[in-house]
Amino acid sequence: MALIVQKYGGTSVGNIERIQNVANKVAKFVDDGHQVVVAVSAMSGETNRLTAMAHEIQARPIKREMDVLLTTGEQVTIALLSMALQEKGYPAISYTGWQVPIKTDAVHSKARIEEIDSEKIFGQLNQGKVVVVAGFQGVTPDGDITTLGRGGSDTTAVALAAALNADECQIYTDVDGVYTTDPRVVPQAKRLDHITFEEMLEMASLGAKVLQIRSVEFASKYNVPLRVLSSLQDGGGTLITSEENFKENEMEKPLISGIAFSRDEAKLMILGVPDKPGVAYQILGPISDANIEIDMIIQNQGIDGTTDFTFTIARGDLPVALDLLKSTANKLGAREVLSDDTIVKISMVGVGMKSHSGIASQMFKTLADNDINIQMIGTTEIKISVVIDEQYLELAVQSLHEAFELDK
Ligand code: ADP
Ligand code: ASP
Ligand code: MG
Repeated sequence: MALIVQKYGGTSVGNIERIQNVANKVAKFVDDGHQVVVAVSAMSGETNRLTAMAHEIQARPIKREMDVLLTTGEQVTIALLSMALQEKGYPAISYTGWQVPIKTDAVHSKARIEEIDSEKIFGQLNQGKVVVVAGFQGVTPDGDITTLGRGGSDTTAVALAAALNADECQIYTDVDGVYTTDPRVVPQAKRLDHITFEEMLEMASLGAKVLQIRSVEFASKYNVPLRVLSSLQDGGGTLITSEENFKENEMEKPLISGIAFSRDEAKLMILGVPDKPGVAYQILGPISDANIEIDMIIQNQGIDGTTDFTFTIARGDLPVALDLLKSTANKLGAREVLSDDTIVKISMVGVGMKSHSGIASQMFKTLADNDINIQMIGTTEIKISVVIDEQYLELAVQSLHEAFELDK
């Protein structure tokens, strides 16, 4: 007997028939003698629908209220799945995040899980029930409802698996595993049988939304074996584990394991800033203090005692960041503030890069051959990222995928 945590995403619970399909899948594991905890997302499109309604009322909806609103999506699917299981004769019980409780910090819209109370869940499992938990949500020490950021149900599932010391965490979605790149953009993309936490962490943080980044962080930290599978077709999916778990014959790793991209990017520029100690902090400090994550940063060589800064953030954070930057520009006497939200970031990821040079130049050549201008470049040991105009996203990803023979 094993304890398995399963997560079903929005498409997998997108209508009543799909919810019944999930109930059938869960039932098979129960029949095999396993204990099952299920985390579910809202029905596909629901979180966006709720968000759009809020935006009809407020340009920048109050985050606390937004969390109250968005968590309703998952409350619907836990109840329906629990009913579907019970209807099939499998005892089940649903819990919202605050009922478990899944305790988080108080950063509305991107809260972090701090602790999960496992007592209630174990109590129900021991009575032979399937426990269905709402993904994407938690509760603060003050009892306020929080959400974990888009795609957060993945993190709920992995955090549950860690807290319950589960044998495996299975993420069921609408593709049958992790691919060399998003198969919706490159149909020739190849499914990977096995990928390391390290690579998956990069892929996720660079935009491969098949898993939320925090879910991979959790899995890596607590060493939870993670598997991405399709809820609609059978197959082994993709296993994500630490590097030690790779078999000997798998060690001949490809240079590049995948290409990730993100459309959720915006660029801010502050020009003509006095070039003296402390300006980077004065510019970026207020933005971090507003819980806005800064990604790539470029500071130009100072000329005439002034310098320019360019940095990128998530597109949704642009209005707030722009206001903050304009007020900093006033204080510092900077010349100008510019912004651009028509950019995307494309990244090539692979642990094999550590020991190979020439990947970057081949990447730049491929983009040049396609007349695609590079606006920013960032590298680490296992990735190279470029920022380009959003209109070239598909062309860039497809031609890089081909140039690096990822379809072979
Ligand atoms: P869910 O609703 O199940 O959480 P998501 O839409 O969040 O599903 O994630 C699955 C989607 O991730 C796929 O439909 C696919 O378009 C996208 N995706 C992006 N990059 C990859 C990749 N490298 N491998 C597989 N899927 C990817
Ligand atoms: N429903 C949430 C979203 O759409 C959480 C999730 O699906 O993981 O982002
Ligand atoms: Mg998702």
